[in-house]
Amino acid sequence: MLQIPKICVGDILEMKKAHPCGGKRFRVMRTGSDIRLVCEGCGRDMVLPREKVEKSLRKVFPAPENTETE
Ligand SMILES: [Zn+2]
Repeated sequence: MLQIPKICVGDILEMKKAHPCGGKRFRVMRTGSDIRLVCEGCGRDMVLPREKVEKSLRKVFPAPENTETE
């Protein structure tokens, strides 16, 4: 079974494709059917469909506050 990582607000996502600025890590600002991400490299934000985010996701670094509550 394909395991889809849980994405929470505050998590850092590492993507397979780098942002034009060269950054590969993005902070999750909002989740839902669309996910709002802010590039850790240049601070730009973007909204991507969840499906697209999950496909290009390499790794999730959970935010400390999220790991504490689980
Ligand atoms: Zn960037």
